[in-house]
Amino acid sequence: MVKLHWEKIFVAGYEEVFHVTCPEEGFSAALAIHTMFDGRSLGGTRVIHYEDFDQALRDALRLSRAMTYKSVMAGGAFGGAKSVVMLGPGQRVTERLLEVFAQAVNELEGRYICAEDSGLTLDHMALLRKYTPHVVGVVSEDSSGNPSRFTAWTTFLGVRAACEALYESTSIRGKKVAIQGLGAVGMLFADLLFWHGADLIVTDLREEALKKAVLDFDATVVLPDEIYDIECDIFAPCALGGVLSKETIPRLKADIVCGCANNQLLEKEDAQLLHERDILYVPDYIANSGGLINVNLEKVLARYSAKVAREETDEVFERLREVFFLARKEKISPAEAADHIVEERIFNLTSA
Ligand code: NAD
Repeated sequence: MVKLHWEKIFVAGYEEVFHVTCPEEGFSAALAIHTMFDGRSLGGTRVIHYEDFDQALRDALRLSRAMTYKSVMAGGAFGGAKSVVMLGPGQRVTERLLEVFAQAVNELEGRYICAEDSGLTLDHMALLRKYTPHVVGVVSEDSSGNPSRFTAWTTFLGVRAACEALYESTSIRGKKVAIQGLGAVGMLFADLLFWHGADLIVTDLREEALKKAVLDFDATVVLPDEIYDIECDIFAPCALGGVLSKETIPRLKADIVCGCANNQLLEKEDAQLLHERDILYVPDYIANSGGLINVNLEKVLARYSAKVAREETDEVFERLREVFFLARKEKISPAEAADHIVEERIFNLTSA
């Protein structure tokens, strides 16, 4: 055990926000609990380089709020949270760093449950589980395993729901899908699209991922920056956040945007830009909610069941129908419609 220093930061609208440090271990983390349901919250752990603590804190605040929206929309049992561990120059994720982080999680006594996010692998999650029970999405008999396939599935359902809303058919046969990012989720999503008859145009920074897509899907490869200009039916951001902006949106030549990346809109107003261009945007926190729905069940069911997870993730299709219906009725963007639904539910929850 090490001595952790907890600095509480008061942020309006957030339950608890901390800067947790342990200088002798090179450990510095921002931990934001946006909401708690029954005293508990859930959210991924990002372990990456940040320029300074302010940048890390901004990320934790933004992402924990988004987790609340995702959880409420998905009918999750936990409030939204996020933790961000800062890596110093040249610092890598080690078991010792994970042990110190796990101690911080344990000191919150179950108020925060962590899950995989950027910078962490499934092996890291297994190590974390050695040191804290407050972790989900671990590949082991008593856990729900890799959440990526559930995330890929709901992203795929997002494409189908958007096709139904726009073309009056869920079929994606012959549709051109431009995928930005072929990582854990993107590759599985590409696989689903392939088997349903889509033509794929792909980009990634990793050569081996591109080679695999060419071999497995006959995909067309483009350079990372070219993906925004591709003539296609669906543009799928599956790599980074903030990729939909006033710079990139005018370049898009797609009818639909649907991908798994978190926080795709650089600014909230960018949803309106898509709307004005008649591009149907599938709100990211619904498209990518499969992973959350799956890990949520790990703590909700007495024994995790993949079949129950499949049934619950399938509900994303109906959820999107509801969002598109409201958006059309109110003449607002789907992002705004989704936020309305969530905010009404939060209001009902807090005023009950
Ligand atoms: P990942 O790290 O496995 O994959 C990301 C891929 O994007 C990598 O192959 C990387 O090389 C590529 N990439 C990075 N920058 C790029 C760029 N500029 N252009 C093209 N490709 C680029 O991550 P993942 O688990 O597949 O998650 C992808 C996104 O989905 C992330 O935003 C993540 O937060 C979000 N997400 C993932 C899950 C999940 O279950 N894994 C759940 C919800 C949301």
